[in-house]
Amino acid sequence: MKIVRTASELRSVVDLWHRVDMQVGMVPTMGALHDGHLSLIHMAALQADRVVATLFVNPTQFGPNEDFDRYPRDEDADMAQFRANGVDVVFAPPPDEIYPPGDATLVHVQGIGDSLDGTHRPGFFTGVATVVARLFTIGRPDCAVFGEKDYQQLQVIRRMAQDLHLGVRVLGAPTIREADGLAMSSRNRYLSDAERAIAPVLHETIRSVAEEVASGAEPGTQEMRAIELLKATGFDPVDYVTVCDAHTLDPYVDRDRPVRVLAAAWLGETRLIDNV
Ligand code: AMP
Repeated sequence: MKIVRTASELRSVVDLWHRVDMQVGMVPTMGALHDGHLSLIHMAALQADRVVATLFVNPTQFGPNEDFDRYPRDEDADMAQFRANGVDVVFAPPPDEIYPPGDATLVHVQGIGDSLDGTHRPGFFTGVATVVARLFTIGRPDCAVFGEKDYQQLQVIRRMAQDLHLGVRVLGAPTIREADGLAMSSRNRYLSDAERAIAPVLHETIRSVAEEVASGAEPGTQEMRAIELLKATGFDPVDYVTVCDAHTLDPYVDRDRPVRVLAAAWLGETRLIDNV
């Protein structure tokens, strides 16, 4: 496994692969790897001949009061995991390789990037779309794999890749969960023992909303019921529980179209998201 730090090195490696008609799959990560990340790597390996993982804690997607400084970083452990899971190249650039001096260009995905987490974390999706557009432009992957765990992010990236004609097939991979249903996340390590014990209620709650709506219950009533239940369990605040059209993330009205239930809620200092 090769580790590269500069855009031009990554370009050269990928160019060589493309010259012999190899397909390249990319898996962007911020490190602090868990089984969720590894599942994306395995999917990329099934879809492409070579796998590039990226390791970059992207400063532009963190708000001023968010956890950029304390975000878990352990490059050696992450590299060992990448190596053990068949990654060919890791792109781990310093910030100014992605954001050169004088940098002034942002990518903002309107509509689908403005609701839900776009409202609760202003600038978050602009940071994500900006960094992913740059990673795609540098690495020119044929496909890239993202987790459904971050469902709205996946839809924002799909929209961005299509709108900018980046020629990257954006693939979604199912959410990997702990045995009790909690979606794996690098941020779960922030939870105290008491918070960790109640965290799976988020998944249980949205799963029950999904089942009720599937059997004909009114979405708005189910959203309200879920918010009350989460509050009573100790989630505070509950940013949203929403029953959406799975593609547009508009409020769910058309029962012939696929539906997604998404939620975001705080346990102490930790914000959890999940969807089913
Ligand atoms: P992050 O390092 O948190 O930015 O996540 C990198 C990628 O891993 C994103 O595409 C996430 O959606 C994905 N991911 C994070 N957690 C999970 C999970 N539990 N299951 C599947 N994919 C995940």
